[in-house]
Amino acid sequence: MTPHPLPQHMVTRFAPSPTGRLHVGHGWSALMAMDMARADSGAFRLRIEDIDGTRSRPEHVEAIIEDLRWLGIGWDGDVVFQSQRLGDYEAALDRLKAMDLAYPCFCTRADIAASATAPHGSEGPVYPGTCRGLRADERERRMTREPHAWRIDMGRAVSMAGPLSWQDADHGTVSANPLLAGDVVLARKDAPTSYHLACTLDDAAMGVTHVLRGEDLRAATHIHRLLQALLDLSSPLYRHHPLLVGPDGRRLAKRDGSIALADLRAQGIAPTQLADDLRARRFPVGIRLAQA
Ligand code: GLU
Repeated sequence: MTPHPLPQHMVTRFAPSPTGRLHVGHGWSALMAMDMARADSGAFRLRIEDIDGTRSRPEHVEAIIEDLRWLGIGWDGDVVFQSQRLGDYEAALDRLKAMDLAYPCFCTRADIAASATAPHGSEGPVYPGTCRGLRADERERRMTREPHAWRIDMGRAVSMAGPLSWQDADHGTVSANPLLAGDVVLARKDAPTSYHLACTLDDAAMGVTHVLRGEDLRAATHIHRLLQALLDLSSPLYRHHPLLVGPDGRRLAKRDGSIALADLRAQGIAPTQLADDLRARRFPVGIRLAQA
């Protein structure tokens, strides 16, 4: 399947999950994505990935917007909220079900962790496929009374899509190998979608031509490329930037309050200076790029 032609002007995006305050790594990522689009007279969009009903909070959305504005980041068009796009995700899931590529999964996290054979992928244990082989009548019966997620039948999906690749700004043409990720979740028990499905659909719906995101999401790109092919969506160009680590060598995370943009603001740091420094890859003391 060949990807659709991309629009002429560049569209980039920043897509935070509102589960905590933004840190300098987020600020750096958003600045790079905005600058890329502006240099091409393109558009930079903001998307709030708020499908996680328990961890996403409205106060974090407000804080994200405040932090980005403080750093001098402005976006084009309305902010897109994933929580307002659930109908589109359900429609795509229905398509995948009609293609016989999705099956209900009743396993709990504990069931999966307990599976002795489960190898580990970038997102934890690879699902061992327990529910893939359930008989149709058992499936129907359990679906009426047990909470269930929906998973992709990855083997079948990969055979249907055929060989795929994506364009990577640093590595050229990269072969997609989604099989490594196993039967990933398309819709969670508590939401009619998953990060993979929502992100892939949104990037296409928002006309995103260039996805710039952290190296930690490179593994996800294999899955997103497959979903694009199955759902006839265009494939953007990808660039995965290195992650930032703190003094302990651990990846910056929203939990490390000390490097939140809000804390730098509270310390009286000038946002224009910080933005210039981040653009020049000069990070606050103790923070550095992870070794590639
Ligand atoms: N929402 C994801 C995060 O905050 C980013 C998703 C993406 O850029 O594709 O880590």
